[in-house]
Amino acid sequence: MRIGIFALQGAFAEHGRAFSALGAECAEIRRRADFTGAFDGVVLPGGESTVQGKLLRAEGLLAPLKEAIQGGLPVFGTCAGLILLAKRLTNDENVYIGTMDVAVRRNAYGRQLGSFRADVEMKGIGKFPAVFIRAPYIEEVGAAEALATVDGKVVAARQGLMLATAFHPELTDDLRVHAYFLNMIAGKA
Ligand code: GLN
Repeated sequence: MRIGIFALQGAFAEHGRAFSALGAECAEIRRRADFTGAFDGVVLPGGESTVQGKLLRAEGLLAPLKEAIQGGLPVFGTCAGLILLAKRLTNDENVYIGTMDVAVRRNAYGRQLGSFRADVEMKGIGKFPAVFIRAPYIEEVGAAEALATVDGKVVAARQGLMLATAFHPELTDDLRVHAYFLNMIAGKA
């Protein structure tokens, strides 16, 4: 399986390590020419969504990526990646890819709780050690399905072949969310 990892900014290398450990072939996508369409799935890493959104636009990647996702390319977004996928942000006017029917609040946990860990119960996976860094959460799930909540807030969701988490599974040694994405691509999850 060939996974394209958007590598414009943020924690992309960690995703590469996780998917490689699971036997997937990984390629980093930085510019339009890297996005050839020969991918079974793509990953939008954590980082800073405003920076990533600007760079995707500047590289001419935003529109083709949106089109590919609408055409059925499986995508996995973590943290900033979730923000890029959201159809609406509740505390920000920007919309980037906008293919996932969720409303997301950026930096939703405030400054005091910039970063924390929590064990979350994730549908299809079980208890997962989740790392949150200036994380968003999902305020409305729309047509998506909530997969995990923390204190009543949705922190993981799926809609068809789009998977997103507010936390960073790539920053733990636990590969089950990455494995879930590969199974999802294979039609087994
Ligand atoms: N706070 C970041 C944003 O709004 C997301 C944080 C992250 O990806 N760890 O883009």
